[in-house]
Amino acid sequence: MDTYDYFYCDKCKAIQPLRNKPVILERQPRIPQGKTFLCEGSFVCDKCGFKRSIRCDVCQKVQPVEIEEPYMENATHEFLGADILCGYCRRIIATLYTRMPTPAA
Ligand SMILES: [Zn+2]
Ligand SMILES: [Zn+2]
Repeated sequence: MDTYDYFYCDKCKAIQPLRNKPVILERQPRIPQGKTFLCEGSFVCDKCGFKRSIRCDVCQKVQPVEIEEPYMENATHEFLGADILCGYCRRIIATLYTRMPTPAA
């Protein structure tokens, strides 16, 4: 989670820098697949202040989240993204990026 400083803001409809991100409270090593963490807080857009809570809309509560990483990269291996999933129902809660993608010329 620490390596990701950008996220896809649902309000800006664009990748934006994060002003705040959830804090990892506890690692859950007993769940074998992926990396699952107990977190607290929200992803906050630095541009518009939009908050994406880590609370899962499907489960209607805060679940441990799974970080599925990295699922994409560019030719120079610079642009990495990861999905934050609900550890229970695997709904995508947020999509994170290590850096801004270079705009297409
Ligand atoms: Zn925003
Ligand atoms: Zn869920």
